This record gives sequence, C-alpha cells and structure tokens, in this order.
Amino acid sequence: MSHVIGLKCRECGAEYPAVIQNTCYECFGPLEVNYDWDYISDNINKEKIASGPKSIWRYADLLPLESERRVDLGAGFNKLHHAKRLGAVLGLDELYILDESVNPTNSFKDRVTSVAISKAIEFDVRAVGCASTGNLAAAVAAHAAKAGLPAYIFIPGTIEMGKIVQMLIYGPNVIAVEGTYDDANRLASEVADSHPDWAFVNINIRPYYTEGSKTLAYETAEQLNWQVPDHIVAPLASGALLCAISRGYKELERVGLVDSSDIRLSGSQPLNCSPISSAVQNNCDVVPVRNFETVAHSLAIGNPADGYYAKCAILDSGGYAASPTDNEIIEAIHLLARTEGIFTEPAGGTTVAGLKKLVESGHIQSDERVVVYVTGNGLKAQDTLLKSLQRPPVIKPALSEFEHLLAPEHNIYKQQEAVHLARI
Ligand SMILES: *Cc1c(COP(=O)(O)O)cnc(C)c1O
Ligand SMILES: [Zn+2]
Repeated sequence: MSHVIGLKCRECGAEYPAVIQNTCYECFGPLEVNYDWDYISDNINKEKIASGPKSIWRYADLLPLESERRVDLGAGFNKLHHAKRLGAVLGLDELYILDESVNPTNSFKDRVTSVAISKAIEFDVRAVGCASTGNLAAAVAAHAAKAGLPAYIFIPGTIEMGKIVQMLIYGPNVIAVEGTYDDANRLASEVADSHPDWAFVNINIRPYYTEGSKTLAYETAEQLNWQVPDHIVAPLASGALLCAISRGYKELERVGLVDSSDIRLSGSQPLNCSPISSAVQNNCDVVPVRNFETVAHSLAIGNPADGYYAKCAILDSGGYAASPTDNEIIEAIHLLARTEGIFTEPAGGTTVAGLKKLVESGHIQSDERVVVYVTGNGLKAQDTLLKSLQRPPVIKPALSEFEHLLAPEHNIYKQQEAVHLARI
C-alpha cells in the first residue's frame, strides 16, 4: 500500500504507472502525480508533521517518494518573516516573507531538486541533468554530488558569473548553449529522449520535480498556525512554482489541515520577459517571447512550460500579475535589504517590485494578510548589483576625516532616511 498511485494526465485524466514520463501518450498533456487522498488523509496529522525532520521531508506524506532513500541537504523549513518595516513602507497591515535565499544552494530550487533526485534514485538512473537559468544548475549539481551521480547541466551562455562559479564547484558536466534558456531546454529535451536512463529533473521527471515546491505552501500554513494567507505573490518563470504553491494550499484543505484554500494568487515577471504577466493583464493566451534581455536571469524563460496553467490559476483566484522594469527590480532589491535585512537576487527583486506595483494599483488591499515568496539569494548576482551601489569613501585613519564625511555635502546617511521612517 502506498500513497502514490501513479501519474495522471492533467488534460484528459489518462492514468499511467509511476515511471519516467512527463507527457500523455493520448493527448500530449502534461502528467502529474496521482495520489491516494484517502490513504494520505488517514495517515497525516499536525503532530506527526511537527515531530518530523526540519526540512521539506517533514511533509513526506504529501510528496511522491515511495522509499526512504532521500538526497537531503536540508532544503526547506525556512523562516516566515513578519515583514513589518517593508509592510509599513508599502502600506500593508500584515506582510510576511518566506525567505528561500537560505536554502543549501541559496534558492528554492533545492526543494524541487531534493524531491526529483530522490525519485531518480528510486528509478535507478545512471545520471541526472537539467536545463537551467542558473539556480537549478547549482541545486542539481550539489544534490547529484551528494547522491554520487553524474550530472549534465545545460545553461544559456549569458547568466551571472556567481551562479556559474557556484554550479561548477560541485563538479558536474556543464554545457553552455548559444541562445536563451529556451534553446538550452530544447537541446536538453533531445538529450533526455536519447538517454532514457538519465533523469532530467525539469524535463522527463518533471511531474515529480514540481511537487517539491508545494512545500512552500505547507511551510507557510504551518508557520501561520495552520491558517492560510489572503493573498500570495510569487515570481513567474515557467509558471511551475506558482501552480505548485496553489496546489499545495488546496491539498492542505483536502486532507483537513486547513479550513480553506481560498487564496488570491498573484505573480510577477520582468517586463522584458513577461509572457505570463502579459497574458494575465490582457486576459489572452500566453504568447512566447524571443530576443529578450533582463537583469532577472533566473526568470528569463520566453516559452513557459506551465504558463497557461499559471495564468488560469491567477485569474481563477482573483489575483493579478505585475511586470516591473529592470530598474524597479534593482530598486526593490535595495528596498527589501534596507527594510528587512534580506538580500535577494533579481528574481526576488521582481517579486517585491511586483508586490509594490500590485499594492499601488489596488490589486492587493492594505488589510489583506499577504505572503511573498523571495526565492533566491543576492550573493549570486553581485555582478548585476555592483553598478547600483556607491563605492565606500576611502579616508585616512583620522577622526577629522571621518567627521568631515558627516558634513551636509557628504552626508553618507542621507539616502537611508526614507527607510528609517518606518522603525519597528
Ligand atoms: C526558477 C526560479 C523561479 C521561477 O520558477 P518557475 O517554477 O520556473 O516559475 C523563481 N525564482 C528563482 C530564484 C528561480 O531560480
Ligand atoms: Zn492526456
């Protein structure tokens, strides 16, 4: 008896056993994990979760693993910060931030990867791989190292140096592909087809992979004492993250851990690469974009695999989508760091900038309980951020030189005044 029945087509409902497969043979729809919800409901409770490991594996009853062989670097169980100062600046009564920058490889991709590579081990594969905009590469490389599996990682040529250094250190095979993420992804899909005993986490075992992100919803609810927020804001690239968060809340209601999953879901994408946000704003189909350039490299997917489903989840929930400019994204990174002490990369800047725009446009109300998912760490994007910072003044080691800096024409504290208005 297991809590996993197999795979099921999201479109036509055709059922398959739990194998390495991501597309329905009947209708080419995407497959998802098919669970035995009665079995899960009978076996799950709050006390059991509370006494579980301090990682995503405390929610193992809701994840698609059927053995105890897990690749665990400690992803998840991150703090839900009550963001009082950022909330005050933006005019929100109750704002929370789930900080994913502190995962083992410093992005939320450790959640999906830990689940996917554990599943790959159940399938007894010879290698793992992925197509990545940078964060997934580091997560796959690290978890593959821990599992003792070779990794093949396909990246676009133009991503941050910090991410390239980080992924290379774990010793995977990294292949930089000319073009965008979409080109790297297409090639990786062909490689996956020609090597059926390799598991590409976000391609041929994608149904299991996306399950890892549901734990963001579980963790939020658990830290809110098994209550749910009114409104969440998540970044959008392929759209898989937002869909998984939505599914996570619905499942908690289904198994009786929360009373409601009536939550408004909003997303944010960089203006220069915003196929999902545009579709939400214009209530139209997701139209793939080409030839884009944005500082938010980890969100730069022109042809989003789960774009349609993310758009529907947002509109059905009464949420909306924002598309901030690169400048707004950088400003939001500074704002988050200066108000909450959290240093995020441009994906997190996109989310916070999106939050700000959605509050300003009235799509988020000031009295809503809002949770924002900050998904990656700013240390990975130092080359992007250096340009937006002032170099520190250099003085001789003399008190008079320091006092001179405090004179009005030099006032080094001036730029922070606005943020200081909102003290805790
Ligand atoms: C991959 C990534 C996302 C977006 O995830 P999708 O599931 O593709 O929408 C968001 N933030 C960061 C930091 C990422 O690495
Ligand atoms: Zn189908």
